[in-house]
Amino acid sequence: MRKYAGKGVYGAVAMGKIAVFKRDETVVKPRHAEDVLHEKARLAEARTAAVKQLQEIYGRALREVGEADARIFDIHMMLLEDVGYNDYINNIIESRQVNAEYAVSAAADYFAGMFASMEDDDMRARAADVRDISDRLIANLRGKSVRQRESAEKVILCATDLSPSETVSLDREKILAFVTAHGSVSSHTAILARSMGIPAVVGVGDAFLAEVSEGSRGIVDGYAGEIIVDPDGETCNMFAERQQEDEERKRLLQQLKGKENITLDGRKVRVFANIGDIRDIDAALQNDAGGIGLFRSEFLYLENRDYPTEEQQLSAYKKVLENMGGKKVIIRTLDIGADKQADYFGLKKEENPALGYRAIRICLTRPEIFKTQLRALYRASVYGNMGILFPMIASVAELEKVLEMCREVREELDAQGVLYSSDVELGIMIETPAAAIISDRLAPMVDFFSVGTNDLTQYTLACDRQNPDIQAFVDPHHEAVLRLIGMSADNAHLYGAWIGICGELAADTSLTETFLRMGIDELSVAPSFVLKLRDKVRSLDLSL
Ligand code: PEP
Ligand code: MG
Repeated sequence: MRKYAGKGVYGAVAMGKIAVFKRDETVVKPRHAEDVLHEKARLAEARTAAVKQLQEIYGRALREVGEADARIFDIHMMLLEDVGYNDYINNIIESRQVNAEYAVSAAADYFAGMFASMEDDDMRARAADVRDISDRLIANLRGKSVRQRESAEKVILCATDLSPSETVSLDREKILAFVTAHGSVSSHTAILARSMGIPAVVGVGDAFLAEVSEGSRGIVDGYAGEIIVDPDGETCNMFAERQQEDEERKRLLQQLKGKENITLDGRKVRVFANIGDIRDIDAALQNDAGGIGLFRSEFLYLENRDYPTEEQQLSAYKKVLENMGGKKVIIRTLDIGADKQADYFGLKKEENPALGYRAIRICLTRPEIFKTQLRALYRASVYGNMGILFPMIASVAELEKVLEMCREVREELDAQGVLYSSDVELGIMIETPAAAIISDRLAPMVDFFSVGTNDLTQYTLACDRQNPDIQAFVDPHHEAVLRLIGMSADNAHLYGAWIGICGELAADTSLTETFLRMGIDELSVAPSFVLKLRDKVRSLDLSL
């Protein structure tokens, strides 16, 4: 059994036989062309054929992945007709008196190199597109159909890389998954695989292709971004179970997709996903979450060796907002300290870190860190529908200070003429008993509450959530915790705020009815729980 790590493109598991796709990589050699006009005419013919092929691929993509993702082939058609690209090819044919194939390959090298050196991610991606259309032109000039692989049985297709048009041309009936040695998760190929629901892992490295042999067995784990070659029996059983869970998820998805989260007696509830990394967005979307109820922004700080800059943060928040396409995204400000440590913060070792210098306490005493994050958040707000959530609030004075700093940041942005949305909702975590008890004072100051049951339970029951030895004393259904949540819900509604739960308890379906009867407006859970919870909500009748 051997494992190769890459990046998962689509969270699903596939098991089966491996087929290795060897590309026809014959080098395109220059050949002296007596009749330059003839070469140009061959080129024009190849281009007409390519446009026709791309129109077909576009039609197929439209059916399989929808208009937004199919657009890439529109771009390919535009590139094919691009004056600069065609002039370059014709020039080479004329000036060097060479065959059209060679001129196209020279143009591909030139333009792909130019795009690859650009700063902008979108422009860099154009390099692969130029290669894709140029390969198509060359194949047409040679009278060959563009690389496709036919196989009698379903296989895991392994290749150096796949172009977008190859990906969309894959026959879903014959492909279990694909694995590429090169490629990135943000490439068009990856985007298409995701939309087509093909389990895929990219970037496993050249060693994989050198070592893998045609016909061996493999497991593609699109969640972990791994391919396992020649798996043992135990691993096969484990993945077979995972596949069954996926099937159940798909069944629920089929049943619930596009349907409202509404109880039998008509109460609408938002069921959102919690994410801790931008890589989790896919999982949230795949599980049809209504939005992001908690985006833990700590990963930006934990993955870095130094404070993440405003620009780095802006880019991450923008990505989440854009990917969620207008659905609500609630981003929680830095919640570092206690179990989440980053050396460069220089935090002291504490006797009781959970009760120590963490989260909002750091932000309020080190305003330069907090303001950088707030600026990035407000700047990102124009890219979607955003809320900002403040952790660990325990007093009115803290919240006043937080809101004042938000005001200062907005004023700074106004003075600099930087745009931000005027609809950013501001909310606080209810995760200290103090916040729940004074929720009547806090609710009028914010737009929403989000209950962090993990910490609320820890602080209410005086049970360290990190200590495995006392877990027997942690009753997640403890009346004290539930009363604090109920009290916060009443106060939120009394003062015009809404309330959600984003701690782990939100996923406990034995409490869903209790929460809805308390008036909870939103439940935000790990992506894999979203569908089960939606199913539960739709089965409840609160009128009984
Ligand atoms: C919580 O405390 O319930 C919560 C959602 O925050 P975290 O788990 O990140 O502390
Ligand atoms: Mg917490």
